[in-house]
Amino acid sequence: GPLLEARSIDRSYGRTPALREASLSVTAGEILAIMGPSGSGKSTLLHCLAGIFSPDTGEVRFDGRRLDTLSDARRSELRRTAFGFVFQFGRLVPELTVADNVALPLLLGKVRRRQAYQRADGWLRRLELDELGGRRTGELSGGQAQRVAIARALVTRPKVIFADEPTGALDSLTGEKVMELLVGLARQEGTTVNVVTHDPRVAASADREVLVRDGRITDPYAGEAVR
Ligand code: ADP
Ligand code: ADP
Repeated sequence: GPLLEARSIDRSYGRTPALREASLSVTAGEILAIMGPSGSGKSTLLHCLAGIFSPDTGEVRFDGRRLDTLSDARRSELRRTAFGFVFQFGRLVPELTVADNVALPLLLGKVRRRQAYQRADGWLRRLELDELGGRRTGELSGGQAQRVAIARALVTRPKVIFADEPTGALDSLTGEKVMELLVGLARQEGTTVNVVTHDPRVAASADREVLVRDGRITDPYAGEAVR
């Protein structure tokens, strides 16, 4: 079955509906681009799929298990161990160094300090960031910060990556490189990637794209709601 599944989810903010009967299945190893106009519900969909918030109605399943009905503690545990997040602007801790930022998810996961920094260094080398390990992330360029954010998202070896406009703050060339990197790593590691993007070139490097319009998910090629 699918690794990640939303079944007819609704989600509102007060009286503002953000998702309406949205359904989606994502296969393990798939790279999915989530596109659509601003305010159409893409971020809300991503947050529901990642168990950051629960839908008002409908189900979200990860690996066959209901995510929306798990306790908060079990859900954050799952997010920490199985999911990785990459956001626009990276959301790094600016006062900490590059190496600290990348090691942080491991340290929070109770990995021993030495091992956490060894693994962080391994990822920094892989992303050609090893020269920057000692720099504070507040001093980095947008492209560098986004690569650090990718290293931090991958360091725990998550099954699923959730990326919300990871290239939105970057010029198009840097954005393309960041996406290539994310896709390349996902292919090597077998990671499933869900990426919200406005950039058609980012979408072109995905396996599949869905379009969110007015809180509903459509497959742009089928021209009708995906069931
Ligand atoms: P997108 O990611 O496609 O821009 P969002 O999921 O952020 O769309 O938003 C979907 C709808 O929900 C929009 O109408 C937006 O204004 C509304 N919305 C999103 N977040 C909030 C919030 N925290 N409070 C109130 N309304 C929100
Ligand atoms: P190998 O290092 O030969 O690829 P594995 O990666 O399968 O072997 O697992 C064992 C090694 O991988 C250990 O040295 C461990 O420190 C390292 N490792 C485990 N998890 C990670 C990670 N998230 N990032 C980088 N290295 C890791």
